[in-house]
Amino acid sequence: MDLKQFITIVPDWPTEGVLFKDITTLMDNGEAYHYATDQIVNYAKERQIDLVVGPEARGFIIGCPVAYALGVGFAPVRKEGKLPRETIKATYGKEYGKDSLTIHKDAIKPGQRVLITDDLLATGGTILATIELVEKLGGIVAGIAFLIELSYLNGKEKLDGYDVVSLMKF
Ligand code: 5GP
Repeated sequence: MDLKQFITIVPDWPTEGVLFKDITTLMDNGEAYHYATDQIVNYAKERQIDLVVGPEARGFIIGCPVAYALGVGFAPVRKEGKLPRETIKATYGKEYGKDSLTIHKDAIKPGQRVLITDDLLATGGTILATIELVEKLGGIVAGIAFLIELSYLNGKEKLDGYDVVSLMKF
């Protein structure tokens, strides 16, 4: 299935000059969402995954059905102040200023093989912060799966040495 036909490119959103890749038109198509999820499930099955981890909010949309299909758990990575118990934090640079992501301190057991999921790889800041959190808790990043990679932003170069798959490249 050609998944790209389900992505809507929205010019000048959220700011002028940006060509935003809207994945909601893939998600709301049952066949396309199922097919995309299955691709990531197949990738994960070859990597003996114990836990799926994804950053809010679109990392949940990709990661939760994969975790369900694998029969493993899902641990959310959230913006600072959103998780109710003790967390650890990773700070990363954004276009304007900095942002922090957190995960519950007990979300990962040392040695667990983790699949990280997100909808899209742009500059790589979000995923690097997520990797940092997983590794700080002793998790092994056994795979990283995206629906979309924006190749022209070279985020992939920052993930050198990691096992990465993206279902679509723009
Ligand atoms: P990065 O940290 O790699 O620069 O940006 C990736 C994060 O920003 C992802 O969590 C993703 O959800 C969001 N993002 C950035 N650009 C887009 C886009 O064009 N479409 C979608 N769906 N998400 C984007």
